[in-house]
Amino acid sequence: MLLLDALRDRLSSLLPNELAASEIPRLLSPHRHNFLLSQRRATLIVNRVRLFAFLFAVLTPLWSIVDALVFPLHLWLMLGALRLSVCAAFVCLLLMYRPSGNLFDAYRAIAILFAIPTVFYVVSHTLLGSYNLTDFSGAVGAGYAFLPFVLVAGLAIFPLTLVENLALGLVLLLAQAFAGYLSWSTLNWPSFLGAFWLLVLIAGVTSLACMSQLAFMIALIRQAIRDPLTGVYSRGSGEEILNLQWAAAQRNNSGLAVAFIDLDFFKSINDTFGHHAGDKVLRDSANCVLECLRSSDSLVRWGGEEFLLIMPDTDMTQARRAIARLRAAGLGERPDGTPLTASIGLAERCFDRADTYRRLLKIADARMYVAKNNGRDQLCASEWRTAETAAEAC
Ligand code: GH3
Ligand code: MG
Ligand code: MG
Repeated sequence: MLLLDALRDRLSSLLPNELAASEIPRLLSPHRHNFLLSQRRATLIVNRVRLFAFLFAVLTPLWSIVDALVFPLHLWLMLGALRLSVCAAFVCLLLMYRPSGNLFDAYRAIAILFAIPTVFYVVSHTLLGSYNLTDFSGAVGAGYAFLPFVLVAGLAIFPLTLVENLALGLVLLLAQAFAGYLSWSTLNWPSFLGAFWLLVLIAGVTSLACMSQLAFMIALIRQAIRDPLTGVYSRGSGEEILNLQWAAAQRNNSGLAVAFIDLDFFKSINDTFGHHAGDKVLRDSANCVLECLRSSDSLVRWGGEEFLLIMPDTDMTQARRAIARLRAAGLGERPDGTPLTASIGLAERCFDRADTYRRLLKIADARMYVAKNNGRDQLCASEWRTAETAAEAC
């Protein structure tokens, strides 16, 4: 048992120390990635796909000059036509994809990026196989066999999880196996197997490179988007999340609720028990709220002792229920053991007929002040709304 613990400690010290233990599973699959990480990763992937597509679109036809010097005319023409088609495909990819922040768009872009040279490799491999090339032309022809290595190594420029890496690496390995199958009769087995094994090794190293990039990305994004005291989202990233959620809610015509949670009489904690005790109360109350949230909800530290809760796909009735649950569970305690309370203002996109997210925030903020003025420790979800908008509420 002791040995196992020691081994686990040793192994965990080898893991990227820029990540907390709870963040390590994010290196394995994208399921645990939060909204901003997915969005920024998708943007980065598409940008790199575009860079790669641009380089390939330029270099692929240029290599025809070398082909022209060493290959017979017929082979050169066929390879040239293939290179021009590949160049056109890369240009299309470059024009088709712009960073949208959508991970599925990014997956499609990366799949197309790797599919184009894979097809090129299989077709060129078949074409070259029907010629008996020797000397310098043989050497250039053999160079075509390096393409799978370039592709597998090229994966290293993307911040990918292990699962994503395995999926892409596997497809590239299958393409290599397929090219071997096409030239079955003339295949030099020892050299083919040696090359295949080298490809597997490069794929393994590439996976490590991708995950190490991802680890840095996770750590940097965490530092950039989290409030250091409470660990919840900072205001800047909160606005970014709200902006994206707002666009999604409009697109799908779905509910989007926001709640301002302002802790009551917080200053008196600092005044009586000191700033340090106040910090602890802030951290504890953020944790209490986090424990009540769904995984799609986001908690933002909007100001000193004021939090913003963003609840996507939530109508007013559901949001009221969520806040009631939160108030019942409590926001923690003041240092003297009495319960910490908050004044909460709630607003919802459909219910309040808000036309921008700033307007939605304004309504929730005004309701929070109504809750404050009405005696604190309460939720306000319907005042500060004109009779006209109330009647039209959806
Ligand atoms: P109300 O019930 O009207 O909301 O009263 P309040 O005392 O909660 O609100 P007020 O706006 O008067 O004071 C907020 C206090 O929060 C003042 C500020 O010192 C404190 N505060 C802001 N940020 C932090 C922080 O990071 N740590 C600590 N300990 N206190 C903070
Ligand atoms: Mg307060
Ligand atoms: Mg306040």
